[in-house]
Amino acid sequence: MSRSNFVYTSHPARVIFGFGTTRQLPEEVARLGASRALILSTPPQKGQAEQLAALLGGAAAGVFAGAVMHTPVHVSEQAVALASQKRVDAIVAIGGGSTTGLAKAIALRTGLPQVVLPTTYAGSEMTPILGETNEGIKKTQTTPKVLPQVVIYDVEQTMSLPITLSGTSGMNAIAHAVEALYARDSNPVISVLALEAIAALARALPKIAQDPGDRDARFDALHGAWLCGTCLGAVGMALHHKLCHTLGGSFDLPHAETHTIVLPHALAYNAPSIPEVIASLETIFGEEPALALQKLARSVGAPISLAEIGMPADGLDRATEIALTNSYWNPRPLEAGPIRQLMQRAFDGATPW
Ligand code: NAD
Repeated sequence: MSRSNFVYTSHPARVIFGFGTTRQLPEEVARLGASRALILSTPPQKGQAEQLAALLGGAAAGVFAGAVMHTPVHVSEQAVALASQKRVDAIVAIGGGSTTGLAKAIALRTGLPQVVLPTTYAGSEMTPILGETNEGIKKTQTTPKVLPQVVIYDVEQTMSLPITLSGTSGMNAIAHAVEALYARDSNPVISVLALEAIAALARALPKIAQDPGDRDARFDALHGAWLCGTCLGAVGMALHHKLCHTLGGSFDLPHAETHTIVLPHALAYNAPSIPEVIASLETIFGEEPALALQKLARSVGAPISLAEIGMPADGLDRATEIALTNSYWNPRPLEAGPIRQLMQRAFDGATPW
């Protein structure tokens, strides 16, 4: 570890972690002084939201099962109107990053406290970041107003996460921790969490791909995902997140899959500038980490090429251009030629080196 000065900002959140922790929801809502909670989910997870409503009994004011990808502003406004009509005094969200995004968007507009029960490994519940779309344009802001007050991690709620989504969502989480290791504002606290998180997920994901009912692996994966979310919320991200944001926003590529495909390539690009990080990742993977990450993605049945997930070949130049436009910090300076090559390799599903 280098002995440089650093700043570490922690975000306040009460975290409850384990198996069956959902049953603590009524107590947590009451602890917030709330008695009329609005429960949020996506349409396919409405059943899980209704179970929470039953658990809350009189403290449930209703279910809004309209969360969708990319947190569109018109959906958030609909949910805010319902919250106001039902005079709710807390938000409960059960789901992945899309549902958490909706909870954050409501909190931003109303100041209502949030209890979040994550069911994927995306990690949004640990960050003060909110990305919203309005008429096809995604804008991201960072404000402590969107931080959930309570996060209930219940491993049971993740057991139904399909195999493929478990793999890609887990790789999405790993990407947060990898970039945290070489962030401009990286610090020793976050680096310890990041390494622990990557090791937990690298161990757990192949086991989940073999047996999605493996409870120990599910425990490790959710534990890792929590730490990865903490990394994402605590330090700035670099090339990898920027590329994924560009590809997701401009070419409508699926979030977790895009992260899975790009990560080995982004790490290989940065590798010459971050020898210490590469050395610490080698201790986890036992081999060159960019190649190891691509092998991990293969082992969980994830897509390996951008072509497979709908990236148009004629979009690679534009994607490179957008990625180079707004200047942002990266450990290795952004060079047009090598970034274009990176894009091509990710598009083809080639090895990162
Ligand atoms: P998601 O929330 O869109 O979920 C994908 C699908 O899986 C949905 O249909 C969902 O209902 C379903 N699902 C989730 N958990 C399930 C379970 N346990 N069982 C069965 N089905 C389940 O996907 P995601 O990858 O979690 O989140 C992606 C979104 O989150 C993106 O919009 C991304 O930008 C955002 N995100 C934001 C942050 C942040 O800090 N603001 C961080 C990470 C991701």
